[in-house]
Amino acid sequence: MSKDPRILDPEMECMDPQERRILQGKRLRETVEHEYNNVPFYRERMDAAGVTPEDINSIDDIVKLPFMEKTDLRDTFPFGLFAVPNEEIVRIQGSSGTTGKPIVSGYTAGDVENWTRMVARAMASIGADKDDIIQICYGYGLFTGGLGAHQGATEIGAMVVPMSSGNTQRQMMMMEELGSTILCCTPSYATYLGESIVDAGKRDKIRLRAGLFGAEPWTEAMRQHIEELLGIDARDIYGLTEIAGPGVAFECQEKHGAHINEDHVIAEIIDPATGKQLPYGTPGELVFTTITKKGMPMLRYRTHDICTLHPEKCACGRTTVRMGRITGRTDDMIIVRGVNVFPSQIETVLVRTPGVAPHYQLIVDRVNNSDTLEVKVEMTEELFSQTDSLGEMQKLQKYIQSEIKSVVGILTKVTITAPKSLPRSEGKAKRVIDNRKL
Ligand code: ADP
Ligand code: ZN
Repeated sequence: MSKDPRILDPEMECMDPQERRILQGKRLRETVEHEYNNVPFYRERMDAAGVTPEDINSIDDIVKLPFMEKTDLRDTFPFGLFAVPNEEIVRIQGSSGTTGKPIVSGYTAGDVENWTRMVARAMASIGADKDDIIQICYGYGLFTGGLGAHQGATEIGAMVVPMSSGNTQRQMMMMEELGSTILCCTPSYATYLGESIVDAGKRDKIRLRAGLFGAEPWTEAMRQHIEELLGIDARDIYGLTEIAGPGVAFECQEKHGAHINEDHVIAEIIDPATGKQLPYGTPGELVFTTITKKGMPMLRYRTHDICTLHPEKCACGRTTVRMGRITGRTDDMIIVRGVNVFPSQIETVLVRTPGVAPHYQLIVDRVNNSDTLEVKVEMTEELFSQTDSLGEMQKLQKYIQSEIKSVVGILTKVTITAPKSLPRSEGKAKRVIDNRKL
């Protein structure tokens, strides 16, 4: 019942890669000039690095530019990185930021238009059009998820249902009554919503056919789980406030990486330790440069997201570089007894284990100078209602422990909790609780 996927802007999305590199180089130079002339903070940084806009003559020259970091946004909060006078800014979006000051990004009317188009491309790639009813359960507000999806869905001409996050009962009621066909939310909320729909016996009452899920890392196993739960085509959409919001990259029907909107951004992968560019296919830190943004351009912004880039032409017809799934963040990677642990590795184990639901928390602590990692995961309703559930649970605990040991390399404590006992998130899930005083 899936509709045909479309390519909204073939002249850009299917452009010859060589031609695109030339266009990117030209736009890069313009952006660097704009930034240098209007943002003293970055001009000083370029001066210190001994680079001028005249040194940027092609996309290859990008490596000459200094990096930008999240701390730069905090240090210049709120307007220090704006490259146009405030009267040209028509929108502020921001990111929660778990510690300290929030960060904000400013958009000109043109910036909002470009961002909207990027999300609309993602919508077109799932075949969304004016006949669709798109239910948006990302939070509306400073967070880019709600408004970002909203703008893209409006551009496509769909009937938009701006639910924002929260109130699962009402989400379900509207979904059923309106007959929503496309769902936009975080993958963790999609799972929760899907389970609630199944529990309420409403699975055959809903008309969903596809979903665009993002704003937090998820795995292939999680995709399968959501697709089966809701009977939909589940696609990944990636983005970050600093660069635009959701829609920086999105998956096509091939589902093997998210196409980056390369007419608006340049993506690089670097070695997080040395800052050196890494070749395609090698995992490293994703770095973005905006090349059409006027309000607050970002040059070589370090995302701390870890993934790989793939340049091969895609069967869908797009020629844009694809990014693989985010396998972790250089900054939310947890180091336990010297071993790098990514929550996604543990998620992969949990999602493929029958008897537990993909709701989990990782609790890190330090006891007698040694790190401990506890994995709390919920059992399924079926297991819970089984008569010999205690024996089953012990077997399951041992099994999960040995699976994690073989994937991650360390011994963990596995605690299986009652169904629906762990906190639910309506936005991004908080998976890691680090109680060490480091
Ligand atoms: P914050 O999370 O700091 O409040 P944002 O809301 O802008 O800021 O979130 C951007 C971050 O969210 C990205 O850098 C990335 O870590 C994560 N993210 C967004 N979309 C995805 C996705 N599809 N897959 C994995 N991670 C994602
Ligand atoms: Zn494709």
